[in-house]
Amino acid sequence: MIELRNVSKRYGSVTALDGVSLVVPEGSVCVCIGPSGCGKSTTLKLVNRLLEPSDGEVLVNGQSVRSRSAVQLRREIGYVIQSVGLFPHMTVAENIGIVPRLFGRDAAWRRTRAEELLQLIGLDPGRYMQAYPAQLSGGEAQRIGVARALAANQPILLMDEPFGAVDPLNREVLQAEFLDLQRKLRKTILFVTHDLDEAIRMGDMIAIMNQGQVVQHDTPERILAQP
Ligand code: ADP
Ligand code: ADP
Repeated sequence: MIELRNVSKRYGSVTALDGVSLVVPEGSVCVCIGPSGCGKSTTLKLVNRLLEPSDGEVLVNGQSVRSRSAVQLRREIGYVIQSVGLFPHMTVAENIGIVPRLFGRDAAWRRTRAEELLQLIGLDPGRYMQAYPAQLSGGEAQRIGVARALAANQPILLMDEPFGAVDPLNREVLQAEFLDLQRKLRKTILFVTHDLDEAIRMGDMIAIMNQGQVVQHDTPERILAQP
């Protein structure tokens, strides 16, 4: 579970978040949506302690994140960002293995895991394990980014516009694939987008943000039913 309790974040004189409270129950997807600059990315970075709140409390699995270091939190939380950030000098398999390697998994474990994950995301391991990022299409790179976030098997995922750089057609395919995966994996996910269709499709709950506040928190059905 992820919980924000009355969290504010100021960067100097800029108030990026202003008293946000939000709960993401275990196994569910909460989508934060809102215009650029409303505080979505800041919200995610407070959860994995890339940032510290100015006020309020962030809890992961019932415990304040202040009681864990960013390194400890990495064992619990996977992170996917828009610019996938695959390392160009590493193969697909090596990229997928980065976090497990940090956790001390050996080469054989990482290879098996990378093969499993490539299969899971619908890419042929024989063709892709040894490929380099430059040889991938945008959609393939994005899938690898998701595989990398799943590699260490953390129960919580933070996803910041994970399909943002993908063209609309591939984006719909990725969304559908990811939903399929989520039905099996039941991760606890905080997902950021500025695309309402994506929010409605992906979210069990939607948090609409504006100027650093959550102005509405509701199911996709109820948000769609509004005039
Ligand atoms: P979003 O992800 O919704 O686009 P952000 O969380 O990135 O919004 O940013 C929220 C606000 O905080 C914006 O006004 C942005 O300009 C400001 N901001 C974000 N990061 C910084 C920073 N490192 N220093 C100063 N202001 C920042
Ligand atoms: P396991 O019981 O899966 O062999 P360990 O005993 O090696 O895991 O590690 C204990 C905890 O450390 C795990 O429950 C997990 O939270 C974390 N951990 C260790 N290695 C990994 C990994 N490769 N991926 C994710 N978490 C890991």
